[in-house]
Amino acid sequence: MTVSASAQAPVHDKYPRLFTPLDLGFTQLKNRALMGSMHTGLEEVEGGFERLAAYFAERARGGVGMMITGGISPNEEGGMGSEMSTPQHAQEHRQVTEAVHAVDPSIKICMQILHAGPLAHTPKLVGPSAVRSRLSKLVPNELDEAGVQKQINDHVQCAKMAKLAGYDGVEIIGSAGYLLSTFLVEKTNQREDQWGGNYENRMRFPLEIMRRCRAEVGPNFILIFRIAAMDMLQGGMSWDEVVLLAKEMEKAGATIISTHFTWHESAVPTIATMVPRAAFSGVTGRLRKELNIPCITSNRINMPDVAEQVLADEEADIISMARPMLADAELVKKAFEGREDEINTCIGCNQACLDHGFEGKEISCLVNPRACHETMLNYEPSTSPKKIAVVGAGPAGLAYATVAAERGHAVTLYDAGTEIGGQFNLAKQVPGKEEFYETLRYYARMMDVHHVDVRLNTRVSADDLKLGGYEHVVVATGITPRIPNIEGIDHPKAVSYIDVIRGTVDVGKKVAVMGAGGIGFDVSELLMHKGVSAAMDKTVFAREWGVDFDNHPRGGVTGVVPQVEAADREVFLLQRKSTPVGRGLGKTTGWTHRMSLGKRGVQMINGVEYHRIDDEGLHISIEGQPQLLAVDHVIICAGQLPARDLFDDLADSGIATSLVGGACEAAELDAKAAINQSSYLAAAL
Ligand code: FAD
Ligand code: NAP
Ligand code: SF4
Repeated sequence: MTVSASAQAPVHDKYPRLFTPLDLGFTQLKNRALMGSMHTGLEEVEGGFERLAAYFAERARGGVGMMITGGISPNEEGGMGSEMSTPQHAQEHRQVTEAVHAVDPSIKICMQILHAGPLAHTPKLVGPSAVRSRLSKLVPNELDEAGVQKQINDHVQCAKMAKLAGYDGVEIIGSAGYLLSTFLVEKTNQREDQWGGNYENRMRFPLEIMRRCRAEVGPNFILIFRIAAMDMLQGGMSWDEVVLLAKEMEKAGATIISTHFTWHESAVPTIATMVPRAAFSGVTGRLRKELNIPCITSNRINMPDVAEQVLADEEADIISMARPMLADAELVKKAFEGREDEINTCIGCNQACLDHGFEGKEISCLVNPRACHETMLNYEPSTSPKKIAVVGAGPAGLAYATVAAERGHAVTLYDAGTEIGGQFNLAKQVPGKEEFYETLRYYARMMDVHHVDVRLNTRVSADDLKLGGYEHVVVATGITPRIPNIEGIDHPKAVSYIDVIRGTVDVGKKVAVMGAGGIGFDVSELLMHKGVSAAMDKTVFAREWGVDFDNHPRGGVTGVVPQVEAADREVFLLQRKSTPVGRGLGKTTGWTHRMSLGKRGVQMINGVEYHRIDDEGLHISIEGQPQLLAVDHVIICAGQLPARDLFDDLADSGIATSLVGGACEAAELDAKAAINQSSYLAAAL
């Protein structure tokens, strides 16, 4: 492709390509960093547009070149809850566009038009054919000719209203199993009229939308088409079909092609933390060579050096970092200023963003609770700075210390361990969780930036704290593992997950994992893992999940058999509940963990009653039937209890004390809750 960079481009020493402007002919992007579309849920809450304006303006100040809003429906059938079809809708959105352009008129903000088609949560849902998605309980109403025309007209009206609202362009989503993409694939398009049958007919609907949108909005408005460059569906789109569609979109008036790598119903993880960084950018690179307009790539590009490398490899013109800019609104600015070690990196957990989105909750970010809460959570300078001790340098203590010190309090952070991080030092050792190192790097840097006095290898008592002259003590001492009351729990076969992850136990070949929460799953993954982590190697990832990047069969996956190398070990993952094992894991990632263990042969058993542990192994009953698991070890992952002795010891000290994280509430605790709670409390101190 032949997109010219600006002649006056200020070249950045370290990220020359990321900071080179991109000339689109009628306008210019100031750099190659894009915040991709994420549904925030704010569009639908009271006062949501004001909050959205603050959210986008903060990212505009953070240096991004272009942003795309969450998906907005062109009509009621589109099913997103928020719609853009009238001047009144446009007026509401003006708050957002004006806030962004007030920061810097050269920053582009585009609105995503998302018609969910068969994935819409409305009885009015529509599709090319009455084919139900496996992710929906509802069968779409098959569109007749008038219905097809209405959907096209509604997309055109939506683009027109987006322009009226002050957007610089729109992105039309043609992927993921939403309406436009269901016209492209035979499985969901079984029509025999001009909108179905051969591929030329199946492309007609999205192409007609692009053509008519371009005719409506004129030449000087950005039109992005989001294409499923690899849809990850058995029998999905072939490479030739992808290329042809992209070329036709270019002819139909698209300014930019944005590559997407999934339908939601595919069985390959594409954005979870276990996906290697920039795993799919090579696919964008191949498509880019076929086109004369710029291409956006995305998925697990979470740091500026990764973005720069993708650009250097000529795999894309623009780098979408969506979740990474939830995690850190200033990602681009920090990269520009050489402060990349201060970037709060997205760890790909989905816990507070996508999981919340799919649960109908407002989204935020595990590592940055301010995300989407910019008007509610702010770290203003304190008017009465205090001398504070924070005890415990796990996520709760680190978040508290960071926010309090940023606000001007004098913070001393104690930890009994040799390094900061608490349980994150265990989590980071689990294959697929390597990104947790980034959070620890970020917090270590924050301790320096905000001059926190960090004292490691220091287990403090209430007496130490009384002598320290602190005005406020924050107890963030975490948890102690629950020890179930089972006969033989003190038998040498019974070991704690902590010892297993730390490697202080030589774990046997046959193992029972007692407790199938997040930690039971992680321990099983660790025990069954062999070789390089898929998260660190694209080839291993492709092999384990059955993706063929080189030959690109239909959907990238058709006919490719996943191959997993597992450790020479037999693992039983047990729980007492009768619900399916892993039901409580994250909504958007739980299935990946279940599949990963399943591929490694882990036997997941629910409805277990534990009787005793002895020299023979673990005695249990399943549905009342006694059984012996003749295992070498029983690894206890049975949840946790608050470690709050210090808090109790401080009760009569007269020192103001706060209790945060696992020490406050161990049940249902995770890092998201710990960081969130600490950030709000430290902001209010
Ligand atoms: P902790 O992390 O337990 O930190 C407490 C700290 O206090 C420790 O460093 C300890 O040394 C210190 N301390 C205790 N007493 C004293 C004292 N008297 N003096 C000085 N120091 C003291 N959560 C998620 O959200 N997502 C995940 O994917 C995830 N994966 C995990 C994987 C594993 C293997 C594990 C073990 C946990 C995982 N978690 C995950 C849970 C998450 O790590 C915890 O919820 C979080 O660490 C709790 O934070 P905390 O600061 O309250 O406690
Ligand atoms: P957890 O999720 O609460 O799971 C504890 C497990 O122990 C459950 O399977 C429970 O199931 C079992 N259990 C509870 N009491 C027991 C008893 N007395 N005897 C035997 N079994 C018992 O806790 P966790 O696995 O320790 O994880 C701690 C926190 O870290 C959780 O909040 C978790 O979300 C978070 N975490 C998250 C991830 C992630 O990927 N998002 C990963 C790791 C950890 P039964 O009662 O049915 O047996
Ligand atoms: Fe990234 Fe997790 Fe934050 Fe989502 S919640 S933006 S995946 S760190």
